This record gives sequence, C-alpha cells and structure tokens, in this order.
Amino acid sequence: LLDPAPIDRTTTTTCGYCGVGCSLRVHVRDEHIAAITPVHGAPVNRGHACVKGRFAHAFTRSRDRLTTPLIRTAGRDSPLRPATWDEALGVVAARLSAIRDRYGGEAIGLISSARATNEENYLAQKFARTVLRTNNLDNCSRLCHSPSAAGLTASFGLAGGTNPFDDLDRADCILVAGANPTEAHPVVGARIKQRVLDGARLIVIDPRRTDLVGFADVHVQAHPGSNVAVFNGIACALIDAGHVDEGFVRHRASGFHELTDVLRDYPLDRAAHLAGVDPATLAEAARLYGSARRPAIVYGLGITEHTHGTDGVRTLANLAILTGAVGTTDGCGVLTLRGQNNVQGASDMGALPDLLPGYQSVTDPHIRDRFSRAWGVEVPDRPGLRILDMFDAATTGRLHALYVIGEDIAQTDPDTRRVQAALAACDLVVCHDLFLSRTAEHADVVLPAVSFLEKDGTFVNFERRVQRVHPALPPPGQAKTDFEILHLLAAAMDADLGCPTPADAMAECASLTPTFAGITHARLDRDGPLYWPCRAPDQPGEARLYLDRFATPDGRAALAARPYLPPGEQPDRRFPFVLVTGRRLAHYNSGSMTRRTPNLDLVPREALDVHPDDAARLGLADGDVVEVASRRARVTFPVNVTDSVAPGQVFTTFAFPDQPTNALTSDCADTTTGCPEYKVTAVALRPG
Ligand code: SF4
Repeated sequence: LLDPAPIDRTTTTTCGYCGVGCSLRVHVRDEHIAAITPVHGAPVNRGHACVKGRFAHAFTRSRDRLTTPLIRTAGRDSPLRPATWDEALGVVAARLSAIRDRYGGEAIGLISSARATNEENYLAQKFARTVLRTNNLDNCSRLCHSPSAAGLTASFGLAGGTNPFDDLDRADCILVAGANPTEAHPVVGARIKQRVLDGARLIVIDPRRTDLVGFADVHVQAHPGSNVAVFNGIACALIDAGHVDEGFVRHRASGFHELTDVLRDYPLDRAAHLAGVDPATLAEAARLYGSARRPAIVYGLGITEHTHGTDGVRTLANLAILTGAVGTTDGCGVLTLRGQNNVQGASDMGALPDLLPGYQSVTDPHIRDRFSRAWGVEVPDRPGLRILDMFDAATTGRLHALYVIGEDIAQTDPDTRRVQAALAACDLVVCHDLFLSRTAEHADVVLPAVSFLEKDGTFVNFERRVQRVHPALPPPGQAKTDFEILHLLAAAMDADLGCPTPADAMAECASLTPTFAGITHARLDRDGPLYWPCRAPDQPGEARLYLDRFATPDGRAALAARPYLPPGEQPDRRFPFVLVTGRRLAHYNSGSMTRRTPNLDLVPREALDVHPDDAARLGLADGDVVEVASRRARVTFPVNVTDSVAPGQVFTTFAFPDQPTNALTSDCADTTTGCPEYKVTAVALRPG
C-alpha cells in the first residue's frame, strides 16, 4: 500500500483467477481498488499471491465494462442498444418460453460458468432443469478437466484430487505431469520449488522445457499426445523393478492382472520409442518415483486435453495405485491442478448434462425423484448435450437457443468456426458478461454481470476446499450478479427458484447433496474453509481421501488397462509442426480481465514459441511475423525463438482475440468426455 491516503475498507475474499484459491485482502478507496495483498495466515497461499491475483484488478473499473443490458431489436445484423432490465429480461423470457413451448426444453442449451460461484452454478443448473426443462447444461470443465472427473471417479471413486496441497510439504518425490504451475498456478509452482530446495526429487513430464525443468532431476520430454505410452512404460518399469506395493495392490486395488496383460505391449524401450524419449530417461523417472517413500503426483491440462485424456488420467493414477501412494496418511496422492478459479465447484454443483449436484446421476430414478420433490418440478431424465455437442445441435437445427453465462465460447472453445456457425444458427443467443466479448458480439441479448470482486458466495479450489467469497466493491452501473439475473429471469418466466440468497442456495444444495451436507455459509464464516466431502455439520471434511476404502463400488482403487492410441490429429507433409496451446503468467484464459490491467502490460501481444533449429531452417528471428496454418484457418504471430519448445513443436496461448488461436485448433475430443484436444494441432509455418 504505497499511497499513504487512508483506505475506506478492506475485504477478505478468494482470488478469482486460477484454481489455487489464494486468500486475498482487497483494500478499497473511493470505491476503487487501491491494492490487493495476500492474507498472511491463509492456509492455501500462506502470504503469497501471484501477479494476477495481486495486480490484475483494474478491469473492475475499465471504461468498457458493461453497465446496462444490451439488446438487438431488428435481428442479428442490427446493432446492440442499451435497454432497461425489464425490457431485456422481458425479451429473453418471452423468447426462451416460446422456444421451450414450441420445441421442448431440449431445444435450449445453457453453458454455466467456472468463474461464477457455487451458489450461482447451483442456481443455473436448477434454472435449466426446472424452468427451461432441459439437461442441456454444461460448464467449461468440459473443455479442461472433464477427463479428471471421469478418470479420478473411475480410479478412486470421487471426482477430485486425493490430497491437500500441504501434503506436498511431506513428499520426497514430486511427479509433475502436463502442467506448468510456475505460470498457470504460480503459488503451487513456488511451493514445489521450495520443496525441491528442501530435498525432494522432481520429475517433470512435459513436451516443453518449462521453468520447473530447471529444478528437476529428470525431464521426460515426451511427444504431445503420448501420455498413455509414457505412463504405461513407467508402470511396466515399476513392476519389473519390484517397486510395486504388493500388499496394497492385493488388498486395496483391482485390475492388476488385466493391467499386466496390457503392459506386455509397453516394455520400457517401446514406450520410450512411442513417446520419443530416451529409455534411460523413462527408466530414471520410474526409479525415482518407485523408490520414493512419499511420492506425490501433480498434473494439469497437458494430461486431460487430448483425445485420450481420460485414459491419460487413469494410467497416471495407476502409478499411485501400484506403489500404494494414495489413500494413506503419508502425504502422496494425486493432485489435479484446476485451471479456472471454480472449475471444480461448477461441476460439484451439477452444472453438467448427466449429473446433478454432488455428481449424482440424473438417470438414477431415486436420485431424480429426491430432487424433483424438493424442487416441485419433474427433473428431465435424459442426459443432455455437452458443450461441443450443443454446437453441432445448433447447426443441424435441433438447438434453437444458447444461454451462456460468463464464457467467451467464440474465443476460447476449439475450432471457432464451428462455434460461430452454431451461434449464427441459433434463434436466440443470450450471454452474461463483464465486457462485450467475442461471444457477446453474436448475442441477441447481453446482460451485464459482475466479477468475483463484486459478489458473495463460495468457490471450491483444486484441493476440494470450499472457501468464502465476499464482495469488495459494489457492481458498476446496473450490472448484477449471475445469481440475481437468474432469479429475475425465472420470475419473468413465472417461476420461483427459491433460495433467495447465496447462503440459502448453499443450504439447499447441502440438503440434497451428501458430499456437501455439512457445509453452510455460517459454518464457513465461523470456522474457515472446509473440504468436501463434508457429510454432516459436525464433520470437519475430508482433506485426505480413501484412508480406509476407496469410493468405488467395491471399495478398491481400480487399475486401468489402457492401450496407447495416437492423437486425433497427426502432423504430415503439409502440416508438419505440432501446435501446443497453454497459458502464460501475465494473462489469464481469454485475457478479458488481464488485458484490461495496465500494470499487466508485461505481455502486450501473443507470440509463437519456435525452437531455434526450426527458426534457423525457416529463416525466422525473434519478432519476425509467421503465418500459422492448420487444416482450418490461418493466424499470424510474431515469433519468439526459444528452446522451451522441442524441435517440430510450437506453442502459444489464446488470450488475445485478434490472434484467434482457436480458429486453428481442431474438433478432436476425448473419446470418454468430449474434452477438446487443445494440446495437439497439426500446423504449417509460413514466414510472413
Ligand atoms: Fe490467484 Fe492463482 Fe495467483 Fe493465487 S496463484 S493469486 S489463486 S491466480
């Protein structure tokens, strides 16, 4: 706080950028944020915070914040014009009701937000199921960690990481796979480095030479898309070297014989060949992990965003099961680095096409009946459409309306031409947003929403820790929370969603969701954060899972026998490079908030990382412009020559809308969950 002028008030809340969930103190002067500082005693961040959490707040008072509803009155080609809330909600209510009544609820899709609170996500799924009468409901975890939910549930029983962040402090070996926490989850990255400085061994499995590689004992620089081969090879080596915890596997796991059958095809040499790495490197990774007493796994989107992302999660989980490094009090475990602040919570709250809150199946008649009785409306019984399927349904005339809460699907979803075609095909597109995003530009109605710094509720971080969010600022202009907007819209459609406050919504969720049964706002305010599952008001919540039994039907961890299958898209003579997309420290996802923060002008424009050998061969130098062509589009970038990428691979982000990276990416998706393959796109480079 360099400015000596007095602060009007300070609010403690939870960071709304990444899934680490740092506790922050927001200092306000004259209704503007004067500074944000980390909370020193906070259990997650222990007084640390990164450049985004601390400094990326100027967007809150950006001059282009949406402060009034916008509507088009003469079709999609007419301009958006300001409207009153009554007028805008009247238009949305009338048109949604007409579509629902004419075509049925299945003609409407709702995309909820991983940036919104749990309570807003709870209300959004209740609105979709009880007012719109559809399970066509999803959130952006579909695009990042849906393979984690599916894979961890199948392997261990619950759709979350197994251990608390603090267990890294006790790990003597950390395996970081497909994650660059230094940039994407900086507080985790710093904790891992500290642990290495204190003596832990570090294995990094990543196609890129990330910052953590400088601290690692081993870097397995595997080809993008080869994760299953890598993990099968390590599993094979663990078994061959006698690193298997036989008692654990015998008493607490299933599927060992099926796994060993498949692993016959993945001796170390073959697995290393498939992954493009030296067998000795893979063997050393297996030796370090297998000989550690308390090995921990930390992974991210480099594992999930593949056509075989769920298989990647499951074969990675195999390593923890084989060594007995999960379901113990010794630390260890599998930690999943969630991208957006509340991507865990959005799914926990049931903003999913097949699952009600707490991952309760919508096809189970007993569960559905419990929700139907509580809500007074029959919950639709058929699983709905996933996000990417909604786009196909729109372009084929089965989906007539798309309701998007706080996601810029036209910028961040893959193969954006498909997204734009879907938006154009819909009779009605409605979105809630802070700014006129690329998606909002296609919308018939845009409703001004508020950011995490202006709302009340809870988020769930990557550890399953439920934390309070408190408003530090009043909403600008006429902007409203997603919670208020959903209530007002439901009322305009002659429905009452109940639970008038966020605290009421959490209480209702708790009454219907066993894993949240003990969680209330009052308890969080009194006692601090709680882990789910928290099954009763007198239970502390389970930070460390599966100490007695796994939550699978037979109580055992399930080893997965999965073959390696190649990525959905392969390079060839026309498109010889592999484009990997990811994140950089200074920007966050679509960049809508960080690009509006002058003190984050650290990266004013996106670049394409190219290996020095490839740059020399193509005659490219730093700053030269290169056209990147995929089978779908062409986008130009300035070149950044760096050996952080391997030869034959290039890297960039999708944080800048005028460099539409996702026009390049493909429609290939995880065969289990539909998570897009953002990590493998075949491209050609053409010097400009
Ligand atoms: Fe926010 Fe994540 Fe940075 Fe913590 S590490 S301050 S949660 S962006």
